[in-house]
Amino acid sequence: MYVVLFDIDGTLISTGGAGGAALMGAFRDTFSIGDPRPVKFSGRTDRAISGDLFQLHGLANNEENWGRLRDGYLERLPGELARRSGKVLPGIESLLDTLTSRSDVSMGLLTGNLPDGARIKLEHYGLFHFFPFGAFGEQHEKRDDVARDALQLVQRRLADRTPQRDRIWVIGDTPFDVQCARAIGCRALAVATGIHERDELALSEPDLLLEDLGAPDPWLQQLPSQ
Ligand SMILES: [Mg+2]
Repeated sequence: MYVVLFDIDGTLISTGGAGGAALMGAFRDTFSIGDPRPVKFSGRTDRAISGDLFQLHGLANNEENWGRLRDGYLERLPGELARRSGKVLPGIESLLDTLTSRSDVSMGLLTGNLPDGARIKLEHYGLFHFFPFGAFGEQHEKRDDVARDALQLVQRRLADRTPQRDRIWVIGDTPFDVQCARAIGCRALAVATGIHERDELALSEPDLLLEDLGAPDPWLQQLPSQ
């Protein structure tokens, strides 16, 4: 058995900035802040990004503010996705079909998105049905903690069929994805389909680095059928 844990943004899809626009729009309107200061999004959890926004603008980083921002974000997200020209990234549909057809591969999500945010994005692009489980960024500021959740989920779902860690792969487009794979002792495939250049990703020392998943054979060769 193998387990493959996919990041969403910059790995499976590009939303054309819909996620960021929905969050910043919700922040602006909910807290009446005309021109919010920018924060870093890439590879981070929605909880961490929101915490930065609160801190930068002198707002309490508490459950009440977080709940208001989260609700506003989820309300805006479908409209932003419809308005922007995002896309499924190269080779993804074919790769997901290939992996789904294998009885020795279990696929899930490992993402900084909220559960509902992940569902809304992936339903928009017709990919949600590929992922029966996932670990999300609702509670955690650190992606490594999301990875720990993902591993626990895998162990609960697969029980004694849980593979060794070197057969569990995390696929993502940022150094944080590689780092969180290491946090749980698993392997990392980095793809240069997000904002990070190949050279930059190489510094995080993934097990494998690909330009995109349009030609995934170098990786699939590492998952021989069992
Ligand atoms: Mg990403």
